[in-house]
Amino acid sequence: MQTVNTLDMLRTALRQLRGDGKLIALVPTMGALHEGHLTLVRRGHEVADCVVASIFVNPKQFGPNEDLNAYPRQLAADAALLEGEGCALLWAPAVEAMYPTGFATNISVAGISDGLCGAARPGHFDGVATVVCKLFQQVQPDVALFGEKDFQQLAVIRAMARDLDLTHPHVGAIIGVPTVREADGLAMSSRNRYLSPDQRVAATGMPRAMQTAIARLDSGADVAAVLAELEAEIIAAGFASVDYAVLADSTSLAPLTILTAAPARLLVAARIGGTRLIDNMAVNPLQA
Ligand code: AMP
Repeated sequence: MQTVNTLDMLRTALRQLRGDGKLIALVPTMGALHEGHLTLVRRGHEVADCVVASIFVNPKQFGPNEDLNAYPRQLAADAALLEGEGCALLWAPAVEAMYPTGFATNISVAGISDGLCGAARPGHFDGVATVVCKLFQQVQPDVALFGEKDFQQLAVIRAMARDLDLTHPHVGAIIGVPTVREADGLAMSSRNRYLSPDQRVAATGMPRAMQTAIARLDSGADVAAVLAELEAEIIAAGFASVDYAVLADSTSLAPLTILTAAPARLLVAARIGGTRLIDNMAVNPLQA
């Protein structure tokens, strides 16, 4: 696997890689890789001839009081993991290579970026959309893979790619990959390493409470009551606060007050110590 950190090196490497029409899958990440990321790489190999991964801790998607400086950086270890998965190329630009002096463009996907994590983290999804648009332009992948772990992010990227004609419809373009979890149910996240041992145990309360909520919805319980119980259970598990606990339409992410036959999603963000964790799960639609 080759690691490149300038656009010229990237373009040269991509030309060689593409050769006689090989399909390229892109897996964008911020590094500190875990099984969730590596699952995206494996899926990439199933749908394309070679996989290009990117590692870039994108300053534009962090708020002023967020964890940009503390975010784990371990490029050598990450490169070894990607190499082990048969990745062909690692694109790891410095901040100056991604945003040279004078960089002035912002991509904002209205509507879908506004609620949920967008409300708690103003500007976050603009940062995501801007960097992912640049990554698409730089790598021009045939297909790109993103985790459902960041469900709203996936929706924002799909909307941006549709609106800006960024996808290559003949290949299937943007693929969402189901969330990979620890054995105890906690969604894998680079931020889990911020948790103390006690917080790590308490954090399992979030997916557990979500499963309970889904079972209650399955049995016909009132949505508002279920969401109130979900919040209370997450707090009882040891979380300091709940940013949101919402039932939403899976496509529009519009909040739902009743379950319908359309696919729905339960989405949660909550804080434990200084760490903000998010999770989401599919909810069984109402049977006709
Ligand atoms: P990040 O490095 O956190 O920006 O994540 C890079 C990509 O990996 C994003 O598409 C995430 O949604 C995806 N990802 C992160 N955690 C998981 C997980 N537990 N399961 C599946 N995909 C994940």
